Amino acid sequence: MPVPWHHPGPPEVPSARPRGARPADARAVGVRIVDVLVVGGGIIGVAVAWRAARAGLTVTVLDPAPGDGATHAAAGMLAPVSESWFGEEAAARLGLAGAVAWPAFAAELGAATGADAGLRSTGTLTVAYDADDVAELRRWAALHRRWGLDSTELGPAAARNREPLLGPRVSGAAWAPGDHTADPRATHAALVAGLTDEPGAVVVHRAAARLLRGPGGAVTGAVDDAGHEHRAGTVVLAAGWRSGELVAGLPVAVPVRPVRGQTLRLDAAPGGAPEHVVRGIVQGRPVYVVPRDPGTGAAPGGGPGHREVVVGATSEEAPDDRRATAGGVFALLRDARALLPALDEAAVVEVTPRARPATPDNLPLVGATEVPGLCLATGHYRNGVLLAPITADAVLAVLAGREPPSAVAVADPRRFGPAGRAGPAGRARAGAPPGPAGTGAPAGPAGTGAPAEPATVVPTRGASA
Ligand SMILES: Cc1cc2nc3c(=O)[nH]c(=O)nc-3n(C[C@H](O)[C@H](O)[C@H](O)COP(=O)(O)OP(=O)(O)OC[C@H]3O[C@@H](n4cnc5c(N)ncnc54)[C@H](O)[C@@H]3O)c2cc1C
Repeated sequence: MPVPWHHPGPPEVPSARPRGARPADARAVGVRIVDVLVVGGGIIGVAVAWRAARAGLTVTVLDPAPGDGATHAAAGMLAPVSESWFGEEAAARLGLAGAVAWPAFAAELGAATGADAGLRSTGTLTVAYDADDVAELRRWAALHRRWGLDSTELGPAAARNREPLLGPRVSGAAWAPGDHTADPRATHAALVAGLTDEPGAVVVHRAAARLLRGPGGAVTGAVDDAGHEHRAGTVVLAAGWRSGELVAGLPVAVPVRPVRGQTLRLDAAPGGAPEHVVRGIVQGRPVYVVPRDPGTGAAPGGGPGHREVVVGATSEEAPDDRRATAGGVFALLRDARALLPALDEAAVVEVTPRARPATPDNLPLVGATEVPGLCLATGHYRNGVLLAPITADAVLAVLAGREPPSAVAVADPRRFGPAGRAGPAGRARAGAPPGPAGTGAPAGPAGTGAPAEPATVVPTRGASA
C-alpha cells in the first residue's frame, strides 16, 4: 500500500514499508522517526527528498505549501553562461556543473514518474537594444572568452536569422548554445509524484516551528506548527529565504535574505512566441523571455499550438509580501516587447511575485554544518532550478558519508563561520560586516545585504533570473 505523499493532520504515520533504520519503539510512541527530515518542499527540498527516498532512506518533507515559494515564480532558465557575471566565476563554474547534471536528472525523473520536466535544449540568445547596450554586451562577451565559456557574438542579421521575431531595434547579440530551460512547476510536480511512489517518503503539510536538539547539541528533528514532533537522523534545512529563522540560537550561520522577483506568464498564439530563450539588455536593463513547448506550462489556455511565455524578472531588495507592482509589470512588458514586438498580441495570464533566497556572496549553502545532524540546502538565489539536481546529489553524498561533487565545494555552508556569525571567509566574500548571528538577516548597510543590490524595480546588471 503506498504511503500518502501528503499528510495534513498529525504526523504519526510511519511508512508502510520503512527501508531505513529506525528505533523499534517508533511506532509505539506514535512519532515518525526517519532517516531524513527535509524542512521546506520547494524544488530544492523535494529534489533532495526524492533522491534520498530513491536511495532507500526514509524521508519526511515538512512544508505548509510545497512549491509555492520561489519555485512558483521561476522561469526555469538553466543558463550558467548567460547568467554569468563579473566577480562571480565560482558561481558560473558551479552553474556549469549544475547544467551537466540536468539531462540525466530529467531522464531519471521521467522514467520513474512518466512526467515531463519540460527540458528544452534550444540555447539562449542575448540581445543588445542600442549602442550602449552593445558596448555592455561586448564587455560581457569578453568575460566569457576569458573564462572559456561557450558563447559567440552575433550581428543583428545573424541574430534575426536565428530568431525571426526580433524587433527592428537590435544592435548586437550573443548566442549561448548550451543554455537551456526546464519547467520548474512541472519538475516540482514530477518530484512530488515521485515521492508519492516511494514507500519511505511522506510530505506533511505543516511548517516547522523549531528544530529539536538532543544531548550534545545535535539536531534531531523538528516540531511543527501543530506541536507534533518529527525526529530524524539528519535534518536538511531547505526553507528558501526563511531558512535562517529556524537556526536562532544554534552555532551556525545561515545568512539568507529575500530578494523579491516578479515574473509574468503570457499565453501566445501560434507564431507569437520566440523559439529560443531571448534575454535582452534594453537601455541597461535586463529582461528575459522564456517560451515553453506548445501545450505545456501553466498559461497556454488559448487553444491548440498556444505557448506559455514567461517574462522576467524584477529584482528588489524587498520582503516576500507577494505584491506585484505596477512599475515592475510595466517595466517587464516594456522591455520584452521592445525586443519581441509580437508579444503585444499575447494574453497576460499571471503575475507572480516571490522571493529568491539570496546569500551575501550569491553562492548557495549546501552541505553539512558545524552542528551534528544539520545539513543545509538553501540560498540558491537566481539559480535554484539550475542547481536542484546537483544539490540533491551533494546532499545525498553527505548523507551517505561520501564526498560531494567537487564543484559544490564553493557552497560549503561553513564558509560563513563556525560560531553563528559570518566568519572571516564569509565577510571577505561579502565585503561587509556580518548580519545578526544565525538569523538569516543580511549583512551590510541598513540590513539590506552585502554587497547590496540597488533597491530598484529592475536591476542594472546583466543577470536577472
Ligand atoms: C522571479 C524569479 C525567477 C527565477 N528564475 C529562475 C530561473 O530561471 N532559473 C533558476 O535556476 N532559478 C530561478 N529562480 C530562482 C529559484 O526559483 C530559486 O533559487 C529556487 O526556487 C529556490 O528553491 P527552494 O526550494 O530553496 O526555495 P522555495 O522554492 O522558496 O521553497 C522554500 C519552501 O520552504 C517552505 N518553508 C518556508 N518556511 C518553512 C518552515 N518553517 N517549515 C517548512 N517549510 C517552510 C516554503 O513554503 C517553500 O515551499 C527564480 C526566482 C524568482 C523569484
